[in-house]
Amino acid sequence: MTQTFSFSLHGTDGRARTGTVHTPRGDIRTPAFMPVGTAATVKAMMPENVRATGADILLGNTYHLMLRPTAERVARLGGLHKFMNWDRPILTDSGGFQVMSLGALRKLTEEGVTFKSHIDGSKHHLTPERSMEIQRLLGSDIVMCFDECPALPADRARIRESMELSMRWAKRSRDAFGDRPGHALFGIQQGGLEEDLRAESAEALRGIEFDGYAVGGLAVGEGQEAMFSCLDFAPEQLPKDKPRYLMGVGKPDDLVGAVKRGIDMFDCVLPSRSGRTGQAFTRRGVVNIKNARHMDDPRPLDAECTCPACSNYSRAYLHHVFRSQEILSSMLLTWHNLHYYQELMAAMRAAIASGTFADFEEGFHAARAQGDIEPV
Ligand SMILES: [Zn+2]
Repeated sequence: MTQTFSFSLHGTDGRARTGTVHTPRGDIRTPAFMPVGTAATVKAMMPENVRATGADILLGNTYHLMLRPTAERVARLGGLHKFMNWDRPILTDSGGFQVMSLGALRKLTEEGVTFKSHIDGSKHHLTPERSMEIQRLLGSDIVMCFDECPALPADRARIRESMELSMRWAKRSRDAFGDRPGHALFGIQQGGLEEDLRAESAEALRGIEFDGYAVGGLAVGEGQEAMFSCLDFAPEQLPKDKPRYLMGVGKPDDLVGAVKRGIDMFDCVLPSRSGRTGQAFTRRGVVNIKNARHMDDPRPLDAECTCPACSNYSRAYLHHVFRSQEILSSMLLTWHNLHYYQELMAAMRAAIASGTFADFEEGFHAARAQGDIEPV
């Protein structure tokens, strides 16, 4: 097994790419979807079950973990992998995005951000240097630069100012990260939906040099059409020989459209969060299991799915445990949704490798257009 971090590109189909990110903790097959383990757990799932869905890597949230149980405590207990019983790669965000979304509870300066904890109101300070320290204490394999981004729409002056600050923070993040063989630091491109600002940001990041690059500042209210328009140019501005990560995305059709435009990695709470609210993703679209039409339905959620929820239970049972607010409901639907997402990524990897991505995309949209199976 490799002791260094590297990326190998195996094939392309149009702008879609498939490859492998090599890390000392194991390989990540790309395009990859990273389930979100916010508070050192993918909610309702045991780590070995997350692995069984096909996940090669998880995401942990710096903001949540620094407040509780704290990075220092996780470090004393042997690091995040040991703490949460996941020995494969972990990517941590920088905490920046979640702090920004606190709105009135935070104050932004050149130095960093001061904010109040949503848990107990205690005051905290987060800077590029502190974010690097927290992510090192957690033992993260892929560390993200500390950055800042406005919600969209925002005016151009605000987007430029924010992007330039993020680039200064990117340099400070790089300096603070230092030389850590086997661990990677990813830079984050900003610039809103503006092509020239995105190009400037990409140029600044290339000058600093990172192990991978994220397209940041999207999925913040701009809508899918605007996001795809931005992805028509943003990934191409980044180095071809490094992984490209689209942060916080998304719905299944977002993933397909973004892979088509050259993205390699994704994370999103959607499959796990939706599982807890009774929404299931299937190849024929979203199924609301709470709907009364499932009450007497003996058929599985998705007859073609091999996950435990679909292999062993009927729609009627899934409806019953959801309506009864049983914990098993969240467990089964989260498992199904994560399984669906990983199958989707595997299908895209196979399609890119065989040069059939266009056919795959057509089939994907055709199945969804059919809608759910007819009620019994
Ligand atoms: Zn299933």
